[in-house]
Amino acid sequence: MRSPFDLTGRAAIVTGTNKGIGRAIALSLAEAGADVALAGRSAADETAEGVRALGRRAALIPADLGSAEPAGRIVEEALAAFGRLDILVNNAGIIRRADAVDFTEADWDAVIDTNLKGLFFLCQAAGRHMLGQGRGKIVNIASLLSFQGGIRVPGYAAAKSGVAGITRALANEWAGSGVNVNAIAPGYIATENTTALQADETRNRQILERIPAGRWGAPSDIGGAAVFLASSASDYVNGHILAVDGGWLGR
Ligand code: NAP
Repeated sequence: MRSPFDLTGRAAIVTGTNKGIGRAIALSLAEAGADVALAGRSAADETAEGVRALGRRAALIPADLGSAEPAGRIVEEALAAFGRLDILVNNAGIIRRADAVDFTEADWDAVIDTNLKGLFFLCQAAGRHMLGQGRGKIVNIASLLSFQGGIRVPGYAAAKSGVAGITRALANEWAGSGVNVNAIAPGYIATENTTALQADETRNRQILERIPAGRWGAPSDIGGAAVFLASSASDYVNGHILAVDGGWLGR
């Protein structure tokens, strides 16, 4: 009998896969059986090799996700590569840190355009296709700052709160048509995105003291949640923001 977590024969798009959480998600989806289109602005050749080593197909789709512009093309190229599209994981994202009084318009625009605008229009492009076929799985990468305000990251907090809002809004419109839209809120994960925090001795200690699991997460900690939300195991899960945070939000 087929496992409800089995993704054999499914095709996915994952954004921002040359490193970090995106790479780990792409490899987890491939391990569960999916072919994966890797969309991003930096070459994700190593991730593609990893997907192929797992016996799945990989397609590289160069795209800067800081605007609405590439969304339609990304979906077309994924369909051309695999002949189908079942899963979209919107992972690409950036963070800019500064005191709120000094936060620049350039940083605001960069964070909102990538984390919110690019994400929405890729949901829209993939959603059009998925609604047409009557099924699909969209997984947005949110954050603890979809629930909390954070410190010195006003643009990021605004964008990630918006990701939670978009996820619920799309779920409300699309759940009845077989398209599941959910999000994962990673806790503190050791990647380039959090290098500054890991290097700051005081903040690092404060963060670790507050995480019940007592450690930073690894990118691979996010993979299982992505497989769940991409698979039929989550068919009755809609508009949910799934925290994978070592217990941070429960504290
Ligand atoms: P990361 O290591 O910095 O990776 C970010 C990925 O997004 C990279 O592949 C990056 O490509 C890509 N990207 C950024 N801007 C892009 C653009 N305009 N066009 C195309 N690709 C772009 O960060 P991460 O920690 O893995 O973060 C992945 C996601 O998880 C983000 O949405 C982040 O906000 C979220 N998240 C992370 C944490 C954490 O603790 N690490 C916690 C909560 C949420 P380049 O290499 O070209 O920059």
